[in-house]
Amino acid sequence: MKRGDLVTNSSVRESLDASTSERVENLEEASSGIDGEKIGPRPDGRDFDQLRPVKITRNYTMHSAGSVLIEVGNTKVICTASIEEGLPGFMKGTGKGWISAEYSMLPSATETRKRRDSSRGKVDGRSQEIQRLIGRSIRSVVNLEDLGERTIWIDCDVIQADGGTRTASITGAFVALADALYKLYASGDIKKMPITSMLAAVSVGVVDSNVCLDICYEEDSKAEVDTNIIMNHKGQFAELQCTGEERPFTRAEMNQILEYAEKGNKELMRIQRKALGQVADSIIGREYEREAIIATGNMHKLEEIQKMLADMDFDIKSLKDVDLDGIEIIEDGRTFEHNALIKARTISKMTGKIAIGDDSGIEVDALGKRPGIYSARYAGENATDEENRIKMFEELKDVPMEKRTARFVCVIATVFPDGKEMLARGKVEGKIAFEERGHNGFGYDCMFIPDGYEETFGQLAPEVKNSFSHRSRALAEMKVRLKEIIDSRII
Ligand code: IMP
Repeated sequence: MKRGDLVTNSSVRESLDASTSERVENLEEASSGIDGEKIGPRPDGRDFDQLRPVKITRNYTMHSAGSVLIEVGNTKVICTASIEEGLPGFMKGTGKGWISAEYSMLPSATETRKRRDSSRGKVDGRSQEIQRLIGRSIRSVVNLEDLGERTIWIDCDVIQADGGTRTASITGAFVALADALYKLYASGDIKKMPITSMLAAVSVGVVDSNVCLDICYEEDSKAEVDTNIIMNHKGQFAELQCTGEERPFTRAEMNQILEYAEKGNKELMRIQRKALGQVADSIIGREYEREAIIATGNMHKLEEIQKMLADMDFDIKSLKDVDLDGIEIIEDGRTFEHNALIKARTISKMTGKIAIGDDSGIEVDALGKRPGIYSARYAGENATDEENRIKMFEELKDVPMEKRTARFVCVIATVFPDGKEMLARGKVEGKIAFEERGHNGFGYDCMFIPDGYEETFGQLAPEVKNSFSHRSRALAEMKVRLKEIIDSRII
């Protein structure tokens, strides 16, 4: 086999082409090794960790709900997903759906003609093993309860085999399944997409003592170790088939096999995602840009938040950066949560970007938790920080130290462009001093003594305050969850 030598089964292709109205194709050259200048060490010029070129053609045939032609190098498989109302006997009455798979090869798919199962009168053992693997793997990423009482038939028919037919079948079948289930979802037959993650499969072999990703038949036929690894986009495994064909293999080899499998499956899932477009978004959500706008006009807060998020590899912008400085947002919520959301929702809607809003204040127990959400306007609508503090000293003038307990509260709301929302709350307990002390910070800082300290926030260095303030605690929680959400949508 020569480099880049893609055999096309033109007769099958052309007859199917004619009957297919809408086709969506997606071709990815796995890397520059095939047509680029660099020639790798493998028979087809690939590097050890390089996939063959992968092409996914959706809507390949017209009758089934999902239909895909997947080409992985010279291996070509037609994968379809057909919806059948009703269930096999053993599933009846469970309230769940079922997914079953069948796999076979065209007689001419291999170098020497393979007899049809129908003419031999039985399904061969290899096909049976493979179709069970396909069914199990696919079911592992589908919530069968959400499918309702119906059966999805996955059919994988290999039209040309050059190694990795079972893994190509799984990768292609997942796309066909996603298309079929999205049709049920879009028509309202099911309430939500029952697929919990992307799924792809790849082979890794050890050939001439080298671990090789996505082995072709030439490599497969002399592989010492042969593995098929099926993974989801969270890096979890649906199944591992690892066989020491010629000899046992070492833990070090296994580690390298897993590393290559993860890399290959990730690349395959990116190709699936690109091919599936909005259907993939309905499974793992839209990928968010790493950019956020802080919905506050308060420079102290902006600075604190920017510092806290500095290590997030996020482009943090102020309202000024997006020409929205001076914007009036009416905070008429009854809780910190509600007010924070109002700000973030408004800015996210206006910019189409992730927006972070916060609301904070001080709750004083002797004042029945006032001023709370009204902290900024405690002494009146446009009150200054000083006027607010004077009012608080006045209201607390007869209250002894042990009863001057209070807490700063901060709630941070993050609103995403697709409407997803996330809240994080932080607080710091302390007491209200009898007099102002220190000049750091803002608002009530110079009259608040945090628990465990003698000094007020106004006396403590900003870095000390920021290390445990209500805002930094809320931000720390928000940061962890923001990272989780962003990462969960990236393959
Ligand atoms: P916000 O701008 O609606 O969140 O109002 C918060 C008000 O609570 C501020 O204007 C301050 O009066 C007070 N506040 C919130 N956080 C702090 C802080 O860290 N130090 C001092 N005062 C604060």
